[in-house]
Amino acid sequence: MNKVYRSYLGQGYYGCIVPPVIKRNVIENPGWITQYTPYQAELAQGRLESLMNYQTMIVDLTGLDIANASLLDEGTAAAEAVTLSYRMFRGKRNKYFIDEGIHSNSLAVIKTRAKFLNIDIVTGSYQDFVLTDDVCGVMLQYPNNDGIINNYHDIIQQAKGLKIPVAMATDLLALTILKSPGELGASIAFGNSQRFGVPMGCGGPHAAFFAVKDELKKQMPGRLVGKSWDQYGVPTYRLALQTREQFIRREKATSNICTAQALLANVSAMYAVYHGPKGLKDIAMEVHKATVLLAEGLRLLGWTINNETVFDTIMISNGDISTDEIQRRCDEKKINIRHYGDGTYGVSLDETVIGSDLIDLLYVFGANEEEAASVLYSVSDADSNVSITGSGHERETPYLTHPVFNSYHSETKLLRYMKELENRDLSLCHSMIPLGSCTMKLNPTSALLPVSLPQFNTIHPYVPSNQTTGYQSLIDELESHLCSITGYDKFSFQPNSGAQGEYAGLCAILAYLRDKGEGQRDICLIPASAHGTNPASAIMAGLKVVEIPMNKEGEVTKDSFKQKIEEAGDKLATIMVTYPSTSGVFEDSIREVCDMVHYYGGQVYVDGANLNAQVGLCRPGDYGGDVSHLNLHKTFCIPHGGGGPGMGPIGVKAHLAPYLPGHPVTGPNPLKSFGTVSSAAWGSASIIPVSWAYILMMGSKGLKKASEIAIVNANYMAARLKGHYNILFRGTNGFNAHEFILDTRCFKNTSGIEAIDIAKRMQDYGFHAPTVSWPVSNTLMIEPTESEGKAELDRYCDALISIRQEISEVEEGKYDIKNNVLKNAPHPMYLVTASNWPFPYSREKAAFPAEWLNPYNKVWTGSARANDVHGDRNLVATHNQELKPLR
Ligand SMILES: *Cc1c(COP(=O)(O)O)cnc(C)c1O
Repeated sequence: MNKVYRSYLGQGYYGCIVPPVIKRNVIENPGWITQYTPYQAELAQGRLESLMNYQTMIVDLTGLDIANASLLDEGTAAAEAVTLSYRMFRGKRNKYFIDEGIHSNSLAVIKTRAKFLNIDIVTGSYQDFVLTDDVCGVMLQYPNNDGIINNYHDIIQQAKGLKIPVAMATDLLALTILKSPGELGASIAFGNSQRFGVPMGCGGPHAAFFAVKDELKKQMPGRLVGKSWDQYGVPTYRLALQTREQFIRREKATSNICTAQALLANVSAMYAVYHGPKGLKDIAMEVHKATVLLAEGLRLLGWTINNETVFDTIMISNGDISTDEIQRRCDEKKINIRHYGDGTYGVSLDETVIGSDLIDLLYVFGANEEEAASVLYSVSDADSNVSITGSGHERETPYLTHPVFNSYHSETKLLRYMKELENRDLSLCHSMIPLGSCTMKLNPTSALLPVSLPQFNTIHPYVPSNQTTGYQSLIDELESHLCSITGYDKFSFQPNSGAQGEYAGLCAILAYLRDKGEGQRDICLIPASAHGTNPASAIMAGLKVVEIPMNKEGEVTKDSFKQKIEEAGDKLATIMVTYPSTSGVFEDSIREVCDMVHYYGGQVYVDGANLNAQVGLCRPGDYGGDVSHLNLHKTFCIPHGGGGPGMGPIGVKAHLAPYLPGHPVTGPNPLKSFGTVSSAAWGSASIIPVSWAYILMMGSKGLKKASEIAIVNANYMAARLKGHYNILFRGTNGFNAHEFILDTRCFKNTSGIEAIDIAKRMQDYGFHAPTVSWPVSNTLMIEPTESEGKAELDRYCDALISIRQEISEVEEGKYDIKNNVLKNAPHPMYLVTASNWPFPYSREKAAFPAEWLNPYNKVWTGSARANDVHGDRNLVATHNQELKPLR
């Protein structure tokens, strides 16, 4: 039902050619898409290298010093640039200037974010605006929304004088031939890397990029891959500067980014690895040349080209053909162009454009069929005044000089490189990944197939709505299924991660309360055991976070809820609760707590990440929730992609529906919408079919059964492990929900062993660790999901039981508390095969500790444990830097 037109609509989204070797071996390959976020770096060296490629590519092209490993989308990145600049002046400067050439979706996301933090967003022309010392930042789009390449020299100099950081929204392909933001004096550059090999997908998922000058690196949002030495002196990749992240900073967090766009960043990085600097420049020059030829052709037809220098986008006006006729010709040729509404049109070209497309575009603008071809052949790109050549904007600095971008330019070589990286990593292809709260379940192939269909993935997000009727009915159906699963009345599919959903849900609550005249309500209660994104999202929404403490046992009791709710009184805006709680228990008091919040006039936000324990069994809308986000990348089968993509739609009760997110370009526009949270109306639209297909294939009986099996699986594992480890929390009937916590705190005293050592030792057994130290420090949380059979559950339990015996050996003094299989784990192949073996146990014990492990199924870790302190002190976050030797 979706119509596939050629879209020349630009504004941050462009057609591109996904190299089939990348499509088949990364995008469609469970070895790449079913991995978890690389917190266990030893099992993630492949994708960490690829993300380092991404960071290096962004740093090179933007001309800045350091770049993160992706953000959710360009709008989010824009909003992060604004809040980063605002924080630099600690709230003392609250005006932020944005040039009117910014993409309208970015501006909408920024305005929403600014509203709740009282940042004053001023828009206007960069040429007229006079900077003053109450301005905390400047944002410029380069090339801008209309395709114009402005000379920003003067405003950047002015900003420098006032110490105002300049952020540039930019385009990676353009930067291969344009001067970089770094050279021009920007402190921040951001944008969307979609056109580097990622389909438009009706808005996503794609990876946004974000780069800064070195002095801003500690304030930079998002994950950062760094290099360090491992325990035995071999270079290794790991996540760097993690103290910036919301898990650790909680209510001091500056952003709530958890799931990002790792998979898409990897695809874009591979695109650059494949094409290399010369290939990318050739692509950019082809696109540019086509644009210049089109501009000159249109001039011959009597049109005016409004832009001076262009890259890939032109504004066209003053023709003598009616808008209706242009539209008729567009429809005839199945082409979308931009209508400004005043007889001005916009066309943005991309690497898919060939001669016949240009001929069709000339036809759209009034040439007849034969004339169009002859016009095209009569024009030349030499001496055109719209050409970048000779404009002064040309790039002269090199980029992508590192060997990784200059070694894999044939399909054979790239295929092998991608396979080599894949082989360093552990994914669901190898074994279960039972991370508590993360719900790593099967991503059924049949549900993934639609993602590759052109009818889903080649759609520009701004096409007229009559071209997306397939998407609309699919999303309507999914909405009605999710409503019946959750007991909510309405869903918004705009948030493209769980954390983004939290933020959107809280904003909807605030808008509702203000509308009711209860704007004084600004307290958000959050149990200490909550996921780190909860307090971070509340801070972003401008709420005051009040933590509900845990007792000695690590529980948050009903009484402490009650006390804090009463204390907040008529200041209580909302409470964020997770059910079943993050301790893996269905708390009996959930209804009472929700009722209490409502009694005091607050709203209940139920974190829906644990829906895998509830689908078909109970509904947040029934036990008291007013709003929840659902992580479609957890419960509803979208693969995690090694740290994204995801989707975090929010469900609300009817009274909150009018306040849901809207979108400035395409709608929807709910009556009293609080604003916009994502660049595209449906967030990462092209992966929504995965969840739709999963729900339809399971049916209501199947979904209920899945929840039951997930709970049974968790309780089976808990029962098998309970003689060996303490299970931290149990419900009143002695059972857990779909996950449970192993209390490993006691080993610290008896053997020096901590949860992290057990986690690392699990890698020697071929397993990914459970969730480490969350929600209770020095414990392990296991969530097996319904996808795993008994044999795999048993293998995982056997490994943990065997490790418990290894701990006993240390407790009994058989091995030194600092030199044992646990403290030295994991044992990479280079260590086990080296001639020198200095350890007090055998190589067999190190590498093949269980009888089911054999040379064919052994997953070797790429490295040993990293030296995080050295890595953070001597940060290396691109391939261009050298790792400092250890002293
Ligand atoms: C995963 C998770 C989130 C955040 O979801 P993201 O998509 O990673 O942003 C929030 N709360 C809980 C309990 C979670 O498990």
